[in-house]
Amino acid sequence: MDADNPNAPMLVVGAGIMGTGIAQIAAEAGHPVHLYDARAGAAKQALAGLRQTLDTLVAKGKRTPEAADLALRRIAVADELGAGREASLVVEAIVEDLAAKRGLFQALEEIVAPGCVLATNTSSLSVTAIAKELRHPDRFLGMHFFNPVGAMKLVEVISGLATAPGVAQRVFDLAVRWGKTPVHAKSTPGFIVNRIARPFYGESLALLGERALEPALLDQLVRGAGFRMGPCELMDLVGHDTSLAVTRSVYEAMFHDQRYLPSTLQRDMVDAGRLGRKSGRGFFDYAAGTGSPMPALAEARQEAPAAGGAAGVQLGGEGAVHDRLVMGLRESGVAVAAIPADGGVELRCAGVRLRLTEGRPASALGSHIAVFDLPPPRAALPRAPLAFSVAGTAPPHVADVARQCLRWAGFEPVQVPDHPGLVLARIIATLINEASDAVAQGVCAADAADTALKLGLNFPWGPFEWLAHWGAAPVTAMLEQLDHFYRGGRYRVSLALRRQLWQAAAPGL
Ligand code: NAD
Repeated sequence: MDADNPNAPMLVVGAGIMGTGIAQIAAEAGHPVHLYDARAGAAKQALAGLRQTLDTLVAKGKRTPEAADLALRRIAVADELGAGREASLVVEAIVEDLAAKRGLFQALEEIVAPGCVLATNTSSLSVTAIAKELRHPDRFLGMHFFNPVGAMKLVEVISGLATAPGVAQRVFDLAVRWGKTPVHAKSTPGFIVNRIARPFYGESLALLGERALEPALLDQLVRGAGFRMGPCELMDLVGHDTSLAVTRSVYEAMFHDQRYLPSTLQRDMVDAGRLGRKSGRGFFDYAAGTGSPMPALAEARQEAPAAGGAAGVQLGGEGAVHDRLVMGLRESGVAVAAIPADGGVELRCAGVRLRLTEGRPASALGSHIAVFDLPPPRAALPRAPLAFSVAGTAPPHVADVARQCLRWAGFEPVQVPDHPGLVLARIIATLINEASDAVAQGVCAADAADTALKLGLNFPWGPFEWLAHWGAAPVTAMLEQLDHFYRGGRYRVSLALRRQLWQAAAPGL
Protein backbone atom coordinates (compact mmCIF):
# COMPACT_ATOMS: atom_id res chain seq x y z
CA MET A 1 0.00 0.00 0.00
CA ASP A 2 1.26 3.42 -0.93
CA ALA A 3 0.06 5.98 1.64
CA ASP A 4 1.02 8.84 -0.66
CA ASN A 5 -1.13 7.65 -3.52
CA PRO A 6 -4.61 9.17 -3.24
CA ASN A 7 -5.74 7.05 -6.18
CA ALA A 8 -4.94 3.71 -4.56
CA PRO A 9 -8.10 1.59 -4.73
CA MET A 10 -9.73 0.42 -1.51
CA LEU A 11 -12.29 -2.11 -0.40
CA VAL A 12 -14.52 -1.48 2.61
CA VAL A 13 -16.30 -4.58 3.93
CA GLY A 14 -19.46 -3.97 5.96
CA ALA A 15 -21.77 -1.14 4.91
CA GLY A 16 -23.18 -0.32 8.33
CA ILE A 17 -22.73 2.88 10.28
CA MET A 18 -18.90 2.65 10.45
CA GLY A 19 -18.15 1.12 7.03
CA THR A 20 -20.22 3.80 5.29
CA GLY A 21 -18.37 6.56 7.14
CA ILE A 22 -14.99 5.02 6.32
CA ALA A 23 -15.96 4.72 2.63
CA GLN A 24 -17.00 8.38 2.69
CA ILE A 25 -13.77 9.79 4.06
CA ALA A 26 -11.63 7.54 1.82
CA ALA A 27 -13.58 8.65 -1.26
CA GLU A 28 -13.37 12.28 -0.22
CA ALA A 29 -9.60 11.84 0.07
CA GLY A 30 -9.61 10.68 -3.58
CA HIS A 31 -9.62 6.88 -3.35
CA PRO A 32 -11.76 4.74 -5.62
CA VAL A 33 -13.69 2.64 -3.08
CA HIS A 34 -15.59 -0.62 -3.41
CA LEU A 35 -18.18 -1.10 -0.67
CA TYR A 36 -19.27 -4.65 0.06
CA ASP A 37 -21.83 -6.04 2.51
CA ALA A 38 -22.92 -9.66 2.92
CA ARG A 39 -26.56 -8.60 3.22
CA ALA A 40 -28.04 -8.12 -0.25
CA GLY A 41 -28.96 -4.50 -0.92
CA ALA A 42 -27.19 -3.18 2.21
CA ALA A 43 -24.34 -1.43 0.36
CA LYS A 44 -26.74 0.19 -2.10
CA GLN A 45 -28.87 1.40 0.78
CA ALA A 46 -25.78 2.74 2.53
CA LEU A 47 -24.84 4.72 -0.56
CA ALA A 48 -28.31 6.27 -0.67
CA GLY A 49 -27.88 7.25 2.99
CA LEU A 50 -24.47 8.70 2.25
CA ARG A 51 -25.95 10.81 -0.53
CA GLN A 52 -28.30 12.34 2.04
CA THR A 53 -25.43 12.94 4.47
CA LEU A 54 -23.42 14.72 1.79
CA ASP A 55 -26.48 16.71 0.65
CA THR A 56 -26.85 17.96 4.22
CA LEU A 57 -23.19 18.95 4.30
CA VAL A 58 -23.65 20.80 0.99
CA ALA A 59 -26.73 22.58 2.36
CA LYS A 60 -24.70 23.68 5.40
CA GLY A 61 -21.96 24.97 3.11
CA LYS A 62 -19.45 22.41 4.39
CA ARG A 63 -19.00 20.78 0.96
CA THR A 64 -19.39 22.05 -2.58
CA PRO A 65 -21.95 20.14 -4.69
CA GLU A 66 -19.12 19.16 -7.05
CA ALA A 67 -16.96 17.68 -4.26
CA ALA A 68 -19.94 15.74 -2.89
CA ASP A 69 -20.79 14.36 -6.35
CA LEU A 70 -17.20 13.42 -7.02
CA ALA A 71 -16.90 11.56 -3.71
CA LEU A 72 -20.11 9.63 -4.39
CA ARG A 73 -18.99 8.70 -7.88
CA ARG A 74 -15.80 7.24 -6.44
CA ILE A 75 -17.76 4.68 -4.39
CA ALA A 76 -18.98 1.56 -6.19
CA VAL A 77 -21.19 -1.12 -4.70
CA ALA A 78 -19.42 -4.50 -4.84
CA ASP A 79 -21.45 -7.70 -5.20
CA GLU A 80 -18.66 -9.94 -4.03
CA LEU A 81 -15.37 -9.85 -2.15
CA GLY A 82 -13.52 -10.36 -5.44
CA ALA A 83 -13.63 -6.56 -5.78
CA GLY A 84 -10.66 -6.62 -3.41
CA ARG A 85 -8.37 -7.95 -6.15
CA GLU A 86 -7.22 -4.44 -7.10
CA ALA A 87 -7.30 -2.97 -3.57
CA SER A 88 -4.17 -1.74 -1.84
CA LEU A 89 -6.08 -1.42 1.46
CA VAL A 90 -9.07 -3.32 2.81
CA VAL A 91 -10.87 -1.96 5.89
CA GLU A 92 -13.32 -4.29 7.59
CA ALA A 93 -16.31 -2.98 9.58
CA ILE A 94 -18.56 -6.04 9.88
CA VAL A 95 -20.28 -7.53 12.91
CA GLU A 96 -18.18 -7.55 16.13
CA ASP A 97 -17.58 -11.31 16.18
CA LEU A 98 -14.17 -13.01 16.28
CA ALA A 99 -15.11 -16.00 14.13
CA ALA A 100 -16.79 -13.82 11.49
CA LYS A 101 -13.78 -11.48 11.28
CA ARG A 102 -11.27 -14.34 11.17
CA GLY A 103 -13.24 -16.06 8.41
CA LEU A 104 -13.50 -12.84 6.40
CA PHE A 105 -9.76 -12.09 6.51
CA GLN A 106 -8.85 -15.67 5.62
CA ALA A 107 -11.12 -15.37 2.57
CA LEU A 108 -9.60 -11.99 1.71
CA GLU A 109 -6.07 -13.43 1.82
CA GLU A 110 -7.03 -15.67 -1.10
CA ILE A 111 -8.15 -12.65 -3.12
CA VAL A 112 -6.00 -9.60 -2.48
CA ALA A 113 -2.60 -8.75 -3.99
CA PRO A 114 0.56 -9.45 -1.94
CA GLY A 115 1.14 -5.77 -1.05
CA CYS A 116 -2.44 -5.17 0.12
CA VAL A 117 -2.83 -4.08 3.75
CA LEU A 118 -5.71 -5.61 5.73
CA ALA A 119 -7.27 -3.55 8.52
CA THR A 120 -10.03 -4.21 11.05
CA ASN A 121 -12.17 -1.54 12.70
CA THR A 122 -12.92 -3.79 15.67
CA SER A 123 -13.64 -1.87 18.85
CA SER A 124 -13.08 -4.64 21.37
CA LEU A 125 -11.55 -7.78 19.84
CA SER A 126 -7.85 -8.55 19.98
CA VAL A 127 -6.10 -7.60 16.75
CA THR A 128 -3.57 -10.33 17.50
CA ALA A 129 -6.34 -12.92 17.84
CA ILE A 130 -8.11 -11.93 14.60
CA ALA A 131 -4.78 -12.40 12.76
CA LYS A 132 -4.16 -15.88 14.20
CA GLU A 133 -5.01 -17.94 11.10
CA LEU A 134 -3.56 -15.52 8.55
CA ARG A 135 -0.66 -16.58 6.38
CA HIS A 136 0.71 -13.02 6.37
CA PRO A 137 -0.26 -11.47 9.72
CA ASP A 138 2.52 -8.88 9.27
CA ARG A 139 0.28 -6.85 6.90
CA PHE A 140 -2.72 -6.99 9.23
CA LEU A 141 -3.59 -4.34 11.85
CA GLY A 142 -6.39 -2.41 13.53
CA MET A 143 -7.61 0.91 12.16
CA HIS A 144 -10.05 1.99 14.86
CA PHE A 145 -12.26 4.88 13.83
CA PHE A 146 -14.70 6.61 16.16
CA ASN A 147 -18.37 7.30 15.56
CA PRO A 148 -19.33 9.42 13.63
CA VAL A 149 -16.36 8.73 11.37
CA GLY A 150 -16.68 11.98 9.43
CA ALA A 151 -16.56 14.17 12.52
CA MET A 152 -14.24 12.31 14.88
CA LYS A 153 -10.57 13.06 14.27
CA LEU A 154 -9.06 10.20 16.23
CA VAL A 155 -7.90 6.93 14.64
CA GLU A 156 -6.18 4.31 16.78
CA VAL A 157 -3.67 2.45 14.59
CA ILE A 158 -3.32 -0.85 16.41
CA SER A 159 -0.48 -3.26 15.95
CA GLY A 160 -0.98 -6.92 16.81
CA LEU A 161 1.93 -9.12 17.85
CA ALA A 162 2.81 -9.87 14.23
CA THR A 163 2.08 -6.49 12.59
CA ALA A 164 5.12 -5.11 10.72
CA PRO A 165 6.07 -1.66 12.09
CA GLY A 166 6.34 -0.33 8.53
CA VAL A 167 2.73 -1.31 7.81
CA ALA A 168 1.50 0.49 10.95
CA GLN A 169 3.46 3.58 9.95
CA ARG A 170 2.02 3.58 6.42
CA VAL A 171 -1.52 3.36 7.74
CA PHE A 172 -0.72 6.11 10.27
CA ASP A 173 0.52 8.35 7.43
CA LEU A 174 -2.53 7.53 5.37
CA ALA A 175 -4.84 8.54 8.23
CA VAL A 176 -3.00 11.87 8.45
CA ARG A 177 -3.59 12.39 4.74
CA TRP A 178 -7.30 11.73 5.34
CA GLY A 179 -7.33 14.64 7.79
CA LYS A 180 -7.39 12.42 10.88
CA THR A 181 -5.19 12.47 13.99
CA PRO A 182 -3.89 8.93 14.34
CA VAL A 183 -2.14 7.46 17.36
CA HIS A 184 -0.13 4.25 17.47
CA ALA A 185 -1.29 1.59 19.91
CA LYS A 186 -0.41 -1.96 20.77
CA SER A 187 -3.29 -4.42 20.78
CA THR A 188 -4.58 -4.46 24.37
CA PRO A 189 -8.11 -4.84 25.72
CA GLY A 190 -9.96 -1.59 24.98
CA PHE A 191 -6.94 -0.22 23.05
CA ILE A 192 -6.16 3.31 24.28
CA VAL A 193 -9.44 5.17 24.77
CA ASN A 194 -11.62 2.34 26.02
CA ARG A 195 -8.91 1.09 28.34
CA ILE A 196 -7.52 4.28 29.88
CA ALA A 197 -10.97 5.87 30.28
CA ARG A 198 -12.39 2.91 32.25
CA PRO A 199 -11.84 4.66 35.64
CA PHE A 200 -13.82 7.70 34.46
CA TYR A 201 -16.86 5.43 34.47
CA GLY A 202 -15.68 2.86 37.02
CA GLU A 203 -14.79 5.30 39.82
CA SER A 204 -17.98 7.27 39.21
CA LEU A 205 -20.06 4.11 39.44
CA ALA A 206 -18.13 3.09 42.58
CA LEU A 207 -18.86 6.49 44.20
CA LEU A 208 -22.54 6.19 43.29
CA GLY A 209 -22.60 2.58 44.51
CA GLU A 210 -21.15 3.74 47.85
CA ARG A 211 -23.85 6.43 47.94
CA ALA A 212 -21.21 9.14 48.26
CA LEU A 213 -23.31 11.51 46.14
CA GLU A 214 -26.07 11.71 43.56
CA PRO A 215 -25.51 11.49 39.77
CA ALA A 216 -26.45 15.14 39.13
CA LEU A 217 -23.95 16.43 41.69
CA LEU A 218 -21.24 14.07 40.48
CA ASP A 219 -21.70 15.35 36.93
CA GLN A 220 -21.68 18.97 38.04
CA LEU A 221 -18.41 18.52 39.89
CA VAL A 222 -16.76 16.78 36.94
CA ARG A 223 -18.10 19.32 34.44
CA GLY A 224 -16.72 22.05 36.68
CA ALA A 225 -13.28 20.66 35.91
CA GLY A 226 -13.77 21.37 32.21
CA PHE A 227 -15.22 18.02 31.09
CA ARG A 228 -17.86 18.65 28.47
CA MET A 229 -20.05 15.91 29.94
CA GLY A 230 -20.21 14.34 33.35
CA PRO A 231 -19.70 10.57 33.59
CA CYS A 232 -23.40 9.89 34.23
CA GLU A 233 -24.69 11.85 31.25
CA LEU A 234 -21.94 10.33 29.10
CA MET A 235 -22.93 6.79 30.11
CA ASP A 236 -26.57 7.73 29.45
CA LEU A 237 -25.53 8.88 25.97
CA VAL A 238 -23.39 5.84 25.14
CA GLY A 239 -26.06 3.51 26.53
CA HIS A 240 -25.62 1.48 29.71
CA ASP A 241 -25.87 -1.78 27.78
CA THR A 242 -22.95 -0.77 25.54
CA SER A 243 -20.98 0.70 28.44
CA LEU A 244 -21.45 -2.47 30.54
CA ALA A 245 -20.54 -4.70 27.58
CA VAL A 246 -17.26 -2.81 27.01
CA THR A 247 -16.41 -2.94 30.74
CA ARG A 248 -17.22 -6.65 30.87
CA SER A 249 -15.09 -7.39 27.83
CA VAL A 250 -12.09 -5.47 29.22
CA TYR A 251 -12.58 -7.14 32.64
CA GLU A 252 -12.65 -10.61 31.06
CA ALA A 253 -9.68 -9.86 28.83
CA MET A 254 -7.70 -8.59 31.87
CA PHE A 255 -8.36 -11.85 33.75
CA HIS A 256 -10.72 -10.25 36.27
CA ASP A 257 -8.32 -7.57 37.47
CA GLN A 258 -10.25 -5.55 40.11
CA ARG A 259 -9.30 -2.33 38.37
CA TYR A 260 -11.81 -3.09 35.64
CA LEU A 261 -14.56 -4.58 37.82
CA PRO A 262 -18.01 -3.96 36.31
CA SER A 263 -20.61 -2.29 38.50
CA THR A 264 -23.65 -4.08 39.89
CA LEU A 265 -25.38 -0.70 39.91
CA GLN A 266 -24.96 -0.46 36.15
CA ARG A 267 -26.00 -4.08 35.64
CA ASP A 268 -29.19 -3.38 37.58
CA MET A 269 -29.90 -0.38 35.36
CA VAL A 270 -29.47 -2.55 32.26
CA ASP A 271 -31.66 -5.29 33.77
CA ALA A 272 -34.34 -2.68 34.45
CA GLY A 273 -34.17 -1.36 30.88
CA ARG A 274 -32.78 2.00 31.98
CA LEU A 275 -30.32 2.16 29.11
CA GLY A 276 -29.98 5.96 29.00
CA ARG A 277 -31.12 8.38 26.32
CA LYS A 278 -32.14 5.66 23.89
CA SER A 279 -34.67 4.14 26.32
CA GLY A 280 -35.79 7.51 27.73
CA ARG A 281 -34.28 6.92 31.14
CA GLY A 282 -30.87 6.22 32.61
CA PHE A 283 -29.40 8.18 35.48
CA PHE A 284 -31.53 11.02 34.20
CA ASP A 285 -35.04 11.16 32.81
CA TYR A 286 -35.25 12.01 29.10
CA ALA A 287 -39.02 11.77 28.76
CA ALA A 288 -40.33 14.37 26.31
CA GLY A 289 -41.29 17.69 27.81
CA THR A 290 -39.34 17.41 31.03
CA GLY A 291 -36.79 19.98 29.88
CA SER A 292 -33.14 19.56 30.74
CA PRO A 293 -32.68 16.06 32.14
CA MET A 294 -29.98 17.09 34.58
CA PRO A 295 -31.20 19.07 37.58
CA ALA A 296 -29.28 22.32 38.01
CA LEU A 297 -27.13 22.97 41.01
CA ALA A 298 -28.58 26.46 41.28
CA GLU A 299 -29.31 26.36 44.97
CA ALA A 300 -25.64 25.86 45.76
CA ARG A 301 -24.43 28.77 43.64
CA GLN A 302 -23.68 32.07 45.27
CA GLU A 303 -21.77 35.12 44.35
CA ALA A 304 -18.19 35.22 45.57
CA PRO A 305 -18.17 37.30 48.72
CA ALA A 306 -16.07 40.42 48.80
CA ALA A 307 -13.07 39.42 50.84
CA GLY A 308 -12.29 42.85 52.15
CA GLY A 309 -8.60 43.63 52.35
CA ALA A 310 -8.54 42.76 56.02
CA ALA A 311 -9.05 39.07 55.51
CA GLY A 312 -5.95 36.97 55.22
CA VAL A 313 -5.06 33.32 54.88
CA GLN A 314 -1.92 31.29 55.22
CA LEU A 315 -0.97 28.90 52.45
CA GLY A 316 1.61 26.13 52.38
CA GLY A 317 2.76 23.72 49.69
CA GLU A 318 3.99 24.07 46.15
CA GLY A 319 3.20 23.20 42.56
CA ALA A 320 0.55 24.21 40.03
CA VAL A 321 -2.43 23.60 42.37
CA HIS A 322 -0.82 25.80 45.05
CA ASP A 323 -0.07 28.51 42.46
CA ARG A 324 -3.62 28.42 41.21
CA LEU A 325 -4.95 28.98 44.73
CA VAL A 326 -2.55 31.88 45.28
CA MET A 327 -3.74 33.53 42.08
CA GLY A 328 -7.43 33.06 42.93
CA LEU A 329 -6.98 34.39 46.47
CA ARG A 330 -5.03 37.43 45.29
CA GLU A 331 -7.66 38.18 42.66
CA SER A 332 -10.22 38.23 45.49
CA GLY A 333 -8.06 40.72 47.36
CA VAL A 334 -7.07 38.26 50.08
CA ALA A 335 -3.64 38.62 51.64
CA VAL A 336 -1.72 35.34 51.40
CA ALA A 337 1.09 34.54 53.80
CA ALA A 338 3.35 31.60 52.96
CA ILE A 339 3.80 28.92 55.61
CA PRO A 340 5.86 25.77 55.57
CA ALA A 341 3.70 22.71 55.06
CA ASP A 342 4.55 19.03 55.08
CA GLY A 343 4.56 18.79 51.30
CA GLY A 344 0.79 18.94 50.88
CA VAL A 345 -1.16 22.02 49.85
CA GLU A 346 -2.83 23.55 52.92
CA LEU A 347 -4.77 26.74 53.62
CA ARG A 348 -5.17 28.05 57.15
CA CYS A 349 -7.74 30.58 58.25
CA ALA A 350 -9.46 31.38 61.55
CA GLY A 351 -8.02 28.30 63.26
CA VAL A 352 -9.24 25.94 60.52
CA ARG A 353 -6.91 23.90 58.27
CA LEU A 354 -8.07 23.19 54.74
CA ARG A 355 -6.02 20.51 52.97
CA LEU A 356 -5.96 19.40 49.35
CA THR A 357 -7.17 15.81 49.52
CA GLU A 358 -4.46 13.18 49.70
CA GLY A 359 -6.99 10.36 49.91
CA ARG A 360 -7.71 10.40 53.64
CA PRO A 361 -11.13 11.70 54.63
CA ALA A 362 -11.27 14.67 57.00
CA SER A 363 -12.51 12.32 59.75
CA ALA A 364 -9.13 10.60 59.68
CA LEU A 365 -7.31 13.94 60.06
CA GLY A 366 -9.10 15.77 62.84
CA SER A 367 -12.17 17.80 63.70
CA HIS A 368 -10.66 21.18 62.69
CA ILE A 369 -9.45 20.07 59.30
CA ALA A 370 -11.45 20.21 56.07
CA VAL A 371 -10.28 18.51 52.87
CA PHE A 372 -10.97 19.86 49.41
CA ASP A 373 -11.01 18.26 45.99
CA LEU A 374 -8.46 18.67 43.20
CA PRO A 375 -8.82 22.13 41.65
CA PRO A 376 -8.61 21.84 37.86
CA PRO A 377 -6.14 23.88 35.80
CA ARG A 378 -6.97 27.53 35.44
CA ALA A 379 -8.64 27.20 32.05
CA ALA A 380 -11.63 25.30 33.48
CA LEU A 381 -14.95 26.99 34.27
CA PRO A 382 -14.79 30.26 36.20
CA ARG A 383 -16.19 29.72 39.69
CA ALA A 384 -16.16 25.97 39.10
CA PRO A 385 -17.87 23.85 41.74
CA LEU A 386 -15.30 22.23 44.02
CA ALA A 387 -16.09 19.53 46.58
CA PHE A 388 -14.95 19.63 50.19
CA SER A 389 -15.73 17.64 53.30
CA VAL A 390 -15.33 17.89 57.06
CA ALA A 391 -15.32 15.32 59.83
CA GLY A 392 -18.64 14.31 61.34
CA THR A 393 -17.34 15.67 64.65
CA ALA A 394 -16.36 19.08 63.20
CA PRO A 395 -17.95 22.14 64.81
CA PRO A 396 -20.15 24.06 62.33
CA HIS A 397 -17.69 26.90 61.77
CA VAL A 398 -15.15 24.50 60.15
CA ALA A 399 -17.39 24.02 57.10
CA ASP A 400 -18.22 27.74 57.06
CA VAL A 401 -14.56 28.76 57.01
CA ALA A 402 -13.78 26.11 54.36
CA ARG A 403 -16.60 27.44 52.19
CA GLN A 404 -15.37 31.00 52.61
CA CYS A 405 -11.76 30.15 51.73
CA LEU A 406 -12.74 28.18 48.63
CA ARG A 407 -14.94 31.06 47.44
CA TRP A 408 -12.05 33.45 47.93
CA ALA A 409 -9.88 31.09 45.90
CA GLY A 410 -12.34 31.35 43.01
CA PHE A 411 -14.48 28.22 43.40
CA GLU A 412 -18.07 27.39 44.20
CA PRO A 413 -17.71 25.16 47.27
CA VAL A 414 -19.95 22.10 47.50
CA GLN A 415 -19.91 20.13 50.72
CA VAL A 416 -20.03 16.37 50.11
CA PRO A 417 -19.97 13.37 52.47
CA ASP A 418 -16.53 12.71 53.93
CA HIS A 419 -15.36 10.08 51.46
CA PRO A 420 -11.81 8.85 50.68
CA GLY A 421 -10.36 10.82 47.76
CA LEU A 422 -13.48 12.96 47.33
CA VAL A 423 -14.64 13.06 43.69
CA LEU A 424 -12.48 14.63 40.99
CA ALA A 425 -9.20 13.71 42.68
CA ARG A 426 -10.25 10.10 42.85
CA ILE A 427 -11.32 9.95 39.21
CA ILE A 428 -8.25 11.79 37.92
CA ALA A 429 -5.77 9.80 40.04
CA THR A 430 -7.13 6.51 38.72
CA LEU A 431 -7.12 7.79 35.13
CA ILE A 432 -3.47 8.81 35.54
CA ASN A 433 -2.66 5.43 37.10
CA GLU A 434 -4.25 3.51 34.24
CA ALA A 435 -2.54 5.68 31.63
CA SER A 436 0.82 5.26 33.39
CA ASP A 437 0.46 1.48 33.31
CA ALA A 438 -0.59 1.51 29.66
CA VAL A 439 2.51 3.53 28.73
CA ALA A 440 4.77 1.36 30.91
CA GLN A 441 3.40 -1.72 29.14
CA GLY A 442 4.17 -0.23 25.72
CA VAL A 443 0.52 0.16 24.75
CA CYS A 444 1.11 3.74 23.62
CA ALA A 445 3.26 6.81 24.19
CA ALA A 446 2.22 9.38 26.81
CA ASP A 447 1.37 12.03 24.22
CA ALA A 448 -0.71 9.46 22.30
CA ALA A 449 -2.69 8.74 25.49
CA ASP A 450 -3.37 12.46 25.98
CA THR A 451 -4.35 12.94 22.33
CA ALA A 452 -6.58 9.86 22.33
CA LEU A 453 -8.60 10.87 25.39
CA LYS A 454 -8.95 14.47 24.26
CA LEU A 455 -10.05 13.60 20.73
CA GLY A 456 -11.86 10.32 21.43
CA LEU A 457 -13.83 11.49 24.47
CA ASN A 458 -13.56 15.29 24.39
CA PHE A 459 -11.64 15.28 27.67
CA PRO A 460 -10.29 18.77 28.39
CA TRP A 461 -6.84 17.46 29.38
CA GLY A 462 -5.09 14.17 28.88
CA PRO A 463 -4.01 12.05 31.87
CA PHE A 464 -0.38 13.17 31.59
CA GLU A 465 -1.42 16.81 31.42
CA TRP A 466 -3.33 16.27 34.68
CA LEU A 467 -0.24 14.57 36.09
CA ALA A 468 1.89 17.61 35.22
CA HIS A 469 -0.68 19.84 36.93
CA TRP A 470 -1.01 17.76 40.09
CA GLY A 471 2.40 16.06 40.49
CA ALA A 472 3.52 12.43 40.73
CA ALA A 473 3.97 12.52 44.54
CA PRO A 474 0.40 13.59 45.45
CA VAL A 475 -1.11 11.28 42.83
CA THR A 476 0.86 8.37 44.26
CA ALA A 477 -0.09 9.35 47.82
CA MET A 478 -3.76 9.48 46.80
CA LEU A 479 -3.63 6.01 45.22
CA GLU A 480 -1.84 4.59 48.25
CA GLN A 481 -4.55 5.93 50.54
CA LEU A 482 -7.30 4.53 48.31
CA ASP A 483 -5.45 1.21 48.29
CA HIS A 484 -5.29 1.37 52.06
CA PHE A 485 -9.02 2.04 52.39
CA TYR A 486 -10.31 -0.38 49.79
CA ARG A 487 -7.60 -3.08 49.45
CA GLY A 488 -7.90 -5.71 46.75
CA GLY A 489 -5.48 -4.37 44.12
CA ARG A 490 -7.86 -1.95 42.44
CA TYR A 491 -5.77 1.06 43.46
CA ARG A 492 -2.30 -0.46 43.29
CA VAL A 493 0.14 2.20 42.17
CA SER A 494 1.61 1.94 38.68
CA LEU A 495 5.30 1.16 38.72
CA ALA A 496 5.72 3.98 36.21
CA LEU A 497 4.52 6.52 38.80
CA ARG A 498 6.82 5.12 41.47
CA ARG A 499 9.71 5.24 39.02
CA GLN A 500 9.07 8.96 38.52
CA LEU A 501 9.32 9.50 42.26
CA TRP A 502 12.52 7.49 42.54
CA GLN A 503 14.06 9.44 39.69
CA ALA A 504 13.01 12.75 41.22
CA ALA A 505 14.60 11.68 44.52
CA ALA A 506 17.83 10.44 42.90
CA PRO A 507 18.13 12.07 39.46
CA GLY A 508 21.56 10.62 38.83
CA LEU A 509 20.35 7.02 38.84
P1 NAD B 1 -23.41 -2.20 11.82
O1 NAD B 1 -24.25 -3.26 12.41
O2 NAD B 1 -23.97 -0.85 11.59
O3 NAD B 1 -22.85 -2.71 10.41
C1 NAD B 1 -22.26 -3.96 10.20
C2 NAD B 1 -22.51 -4.36 8.75
O4 NAD B 1 -21.72 -5.50 8.46
C3 NAD B 1 -23.97 -4.76 8.47
O5 NAD B 1 -24.44 -4.01 7.36
C4 NAD B 1 -23.89 -6.24 8.16
O6 NAD B 1 -24.83 -6.65 7.17
C5 NAD B 1 -22.48 -6.39 7.66
N1 NAD B 1 -21.90 -7.71 7.83
C6 NAD B 1 -22.03 -8.54 8.88
N2 NAD B 1 -21.29 -9.66 8.66
C7 NAD B 1 -20.68 -9.52 7.47
C8 NAD B 1 -19.78 -10.30 6.71
N3 NAD B 1 -19.34 -11.47 7.17
N4 NAD B 1 -19.34 -9.83 5.53
C9 NAD B 1 -19.77 -8.63 5.08
N5 NAD B 1 -20.64 -7.85 5.73
C10 NAD B 1 -21.08 -8.27 6.93
O7 NAD B 1 -22.09 -2.14 12.72
P2 NAD B 1 -21.12 -0.89 12.99
O8 NAD B 1 -21.62 -0.13 14.14
O9 NAD B 1 -20.84 -0.21 11.69
O10 NAD B 1 -19.82 -1.65 13.49
C11 NAD B 1 -18.96 -2.33 12.61
C12 NAD B 1 -17.64 -2.62 13.29
O11 NAD B 1 -17.07 -1.38 13.73
C13 NAD B 1 -17.74 -3.48 14.54
O12 NAD B 1 -16.60 -4.29 14.61
C14 NAD B 1 -17.78 -2.46 15.67
O13 NAD B 1 -17.32 -3.00 16.88
C15 NAD B 1 -16.81 -1.43 15.13
N6 NAD B 1 -17.00 -0.08 15.69
C16 NAD B 1 -18.24 0.43 15.89
C17 NAD B 1 -18.38 1.72 16.41
C18 NAD B 1 -19.75 2.31 16.63
O14 NAD B 1 -19.85 3.30 17.39
N7 NAD B 1 -20.79 1.79 15.99
C19 NAD B 1 -17.24 2.49 16.72
C20 NAD B 1 -15.98 1.94 16.46
C21 NAD B 1 -15.87 0.66 15.96
